[in-house]
Amino acid sequence: MEYPNWDLPEGLSELLDERFEALQEERGFDYFEVATTQQSKVGGYPGWTQPPDWPDCAGCGTRMEHLLSATATEPGTGRWLPLDDRNPSQDQAATPSWRAEADPATLDAFGHNMGLGDIGGVYFFVCRVCPDTPYTHRYDC
Ligand SMILES: [Zn+2]
Repeated sequence: MEYPNWDLPEGLSELLDERFEALQEERGFDYFEVATTQQSKVGGYPGWTQPPDWPDCAGCGTRMEHLLSATATEPGTGRWLPLDDRNPSQDQAATPSWRAEADPATLDAFGHNMGLGDIGGVYFFVCRVCPDTPYTHRYDC
């Protein structure tokens, strides 16, 4: 698995792989279901649909910070689904948040209907080290 371009200490990537594989086997959900959100958002980490492509600042050379993402789709399932958009016929108390389903009556209204490839996104980055806060973007689809 390829995680965001963190500067991981040696061996940590392998340890994370083992833990997420165990999570998948024992509980049936994966890294993306429990550790990321892939829709439009401010902050956090990009929900890359292709291998991560973090930009370095042209001014100072440090890795830029993720500012916001605009994605082509908004998922109709999962832990980041707003409570008001969840399926009222699903038992919310017995359903883990990452298994939440959208209300079928509202599902067609999700998202902004922008075409970004098939399921891509545009990710904006900023450098807070440089005084002029340069920014850039990446696009994947
Ligand atoms: Zn910079």
